[in-house]
Amino acid sequence: MTKKVKKSCVVIGDGVAANTFIFYLLKATSDIEVTQFFNESLFPKSSIKSTAIVANRNVPDGISEYGDLLNKSFIELERFYEKYKQQFFDDIEIITHREYGNGVDYHRKYPQAQRSKYGYVYSEDAYLFYPEEYLKRLRSLNQNTRVEKAICDYGQLSDYDLVVDCSGHYLKYFNPALDSKVTSGAYLSTRFDFKHSFSITMDHCNLIFRKKYNQLIIGSSTGNEIIAMKDFEHLKASFKTLKEYDFELPSFSEFDLVRSFRHKMIKRLPVWKEFSDNVYVNGGYFKNGYQFSLLAAKELSEMIVEKI
Ligand SMILES: Cc1cc2nc3c(=O)[nH]c(=O)nc-3n(C[C@H](O)[C@H](O)[C@H](O)COP(=O)(O)OP(=O)(O)OC[C@H]3O[C@@H](n4cnc5c(N)ncnc54)[C@H](O)[C@@H]3O)c2cc1C
Repeated sequence: MTKKVKKSCVVIGDGVAANTFIFYLLKATSDIEVTQFFNESLFPKSSIKSTAIVANRNVPDGISEYGDLLNKSFIELERFYEKYKQQFFDDIEIITHREYGNGVDYHRKYPQAQRSKYGYVYSEDAYLFYPEEYLKRLRSLNQNTRVEKAICDYGQLSDYDLVVDCSGHYLKYFNPALDSKVTSGAYLSTRFDFKHSFSITMDHCNLIFRKKYNQLIIGSSTGNEIIAMKDFEHLKASFKTLKEYDFELPSFSEFDLVRSFRHKMIKRLPVWKEFSDNVYVNGGYFKNGYQFSLLAAKELSEMIVEKI
């Protein structure tokens, strides 16, 4: 009897897209060998600069493709958490996300909002990821070959049966014709102490607290260009707004500015598909990497397993 030869798959990237995809692929089949390439000194990842919160935010179904994808992705995250919560117990926390507001649009979006001290509030469970720990956990479960190496073009990988490009906003370097743009993202961060982790949105400002790191975050903001000033001004304004409520916050000078980039495709729609023969792309997550990556990993691995 001849032994079945395993297919070889190369994955570019070491962020949430790559590691989640490998996790799903290796669960779906044992007929593939995965090699992962990445280079953090040349191509630093966004995944560890992320606020990494996933809340459902009452997105209605059937209004836009983007909204439907968010909802489908949220369901996949719930399924994933239910199935693997033992393994990821220290890396993903269920917290309460509160969205404060008032006005017609707010009440249309959150008809179940309740009166509170700061106006109306809508509360829901949300998932807070600890990015470094989560990625570390995925890597330890994945057990594939990992190589620290910069890839210049797909031609360099022609010895592999499949290429899956999870290079985040660097995807554009490999595919200059891709209709997308790179935008900046930033937040303010400092050490502080509250009793529990939480996430609050108020007047378009976000306040997040990660208990495990004792880290307080204000933001994030999104700039259309790769400049810091816009982000900084926005965050300064957010800080001022939050200070106007009677939150106990540290002084502005105690915060550090954390910046990274996001990859935005047309209509904010992410992409996971076969791009050319045996070359797949998985990215364009923009603000929703921790939400989209699970559905992307599920659908892309099913697509690949069906084909091999
Ligand atoms: C400030 C900020 C806040 C955010 N907040 C949230 C949030 O609250 N919730 C949420 O869901 N999402 C959030 N996001 C979005 C989310 O973080 C991103 O969508 C996600 O991290 C993108 O992951 P990725 O794996 O596609 O890319 P990355 O994490 O950037 O990883 C890319 C990988 O590819 C490798 N690479 C690239 N090019 C090459 C090459 N040529 N050769 C070898 N290796 C290469 C890099 O080394 C890296 O490992 C936020 C983003 C930012 C910037």
